[in-house]
Amino acid sequence: MDDCLFCKIASKEIPGEIVYEDDNVIAIKDVNPQAPIHLLLIPKEHYDSVLTVPAGNEIITQIHTVANRLALKYGIVDTGFRLVNNCGEDGGQTVLHLHYHLLGGRNLGWPPG
Ligand code: AMP
Ligand code: ZN
Repeated sequence: MDDCLFCKIASKEIPGEIVYEDDNVIAIKDVNPQAPIHLLLIPKEHYDSVLTVPAGNEIITQIHTVANRLALKYGIVDTGFRLVNNCGEDGGQTVLHLHYHLLGGRNLGWPPG
């Protein structure tokens, strides 16, 4: 996708604070953190949202595996964390490239706003 912010960060065309990378997934620090730990887990391949990930594709599982690893690395396994996907307008999705938020380091409260 030529004009996609997260494609450009994943391809290093524009800078992001990358804290994890493998063949399929990058994780960056969110520029506007909502918690002491706020990472974005982003597939390198472009999908507009979870709705367009083909059935049988492994990327969601891979993202969850990376989330577990990063939760360990950032010390939020024992205290807990939240893995969030915002989908569509009412879901609060502002960047139309699939991503999950990994949030932790404070009590996040429920329900979300
Ligand atoms: P969402 O609203 O779920 O689509 O999440 C998009 C997230 O991307 C927001 O939390 C933004 O703060 C974050 N964001 C936007 N631009 C950047 C950027 N250049 N680097 C890191 N995070 C960003
Ligand atoms: Zn993209």
